Amino acid sequence: ERAELELLRNEPAVTLDGIDISLNANIELPEEAAVALAAGAKGIGLFRSEFLFMGRDELPGEEEQYRAYASVAKTMAGLPVTIRTLDLGADKTLDGDTTVATNPALGQRAIRYCLARPEMFGTQLRAILRASVHGNIRILLPMVAHLHEVRATRAALDAARRELDARGEPYAAHIELGAMVEVPAIAIAIEPFAQALDFFSIGTNDLIQYTLAIDRGDHDVADLYDPLHPAVLRLIANTINAAQRAGKSVAVCGEMAGDSRLTRLLLGMGLTEFSMHPQQLLDVKREVRGAHSNALRVKVATALNRAQPIDPDALQLP
Ligand code: PEP
Ligand code: MG
Repeated sequence: ERAELELLRNEPAVTLDGIDISLNANIELPEEAAVALAAGAKGIGLFRSEFLFMGRDELPGEEEQYRAYASVAKTMAGLPVTIRTLDLGADKTLDGDTTVATNPALGQRAIRYCLARPEMFGTQLRAILRASVHGNIRILLPMVAHLHEVRATRAALDAARRELDARGEPYAAHIELGAMVEVPAIAIAIEPFAQALDFFSIGTNDLIQYTLAIDRGDHDVADLYDPLHPAVLRLIANTINAAQRAGKSVAVCGEMAGDSRLTRLLLGMGLTEFSMHPQQLLDVKREVRGAHSNALRVKVATALNRAQPIDPDALQLP
């Protein structure tokens, strides 16, 4: 069966009714870009940059980060490379960090962590900007919940550009800025964010955690962590609709995107961009190529209206 899947590697990800679906890869380290490309990924949908910072004593400086981001951009040779700015705190901590937060998942995490550390954030932004001349880099902000976080990031980007100008370092004239949709607040009221940003990526791992109030790392409540809860599905579907209405691209990059049992469900919500672990690409591509997306849209819309749990198996075509 694996051999059969391998035959799909160079085939397009297009549904039976002709909708092009872009299947991208999630990576944690620069070396994985080559793996993603070999698996047939059409871009890097999520580069979890915090993994460059974890498990070591000294943090990477601008030069080391620049080389890491540039190497991914060069490997992908013009395909989109979505670099997520540091998502530290909560389940991803630095070595030696002895911060005791009352509730780390709700505390100074991700974009909050970065905006509170302008020097660290500025270093990363300068490294990303410098790398942008080597390919098609986009910047993705984790855990955005407030519009002022976007404004503060734009100000930090301007400051980073001024510093590079002063040093005579080149960077791309335009770089797209997007946000993870992983806090329910932004999924519920996304319109102003759609005005302020270029693209969205739905992080279902955290969106489920924050919507259902289930700690994603707590085994005692793991059975309540339900990607198919109607509230979760409505938030995902609403986000896709609202972003597309505003003319902004929207992807799913959480675990749901790589679960081939859920591919038809997401296609039925109108999703056209998926990002996942490279190993999952071919399974998802097989589902895409066997799916009739318009028929799925009708079925999924009906199920979402009922707000009942959806049985993904009921979406399989005869
Ligand atoms: C997510 O939350 O779905 C996501 C993709 O980010 P991470 O798993 O790194 O928090
Ligand atoms: Mg997340």
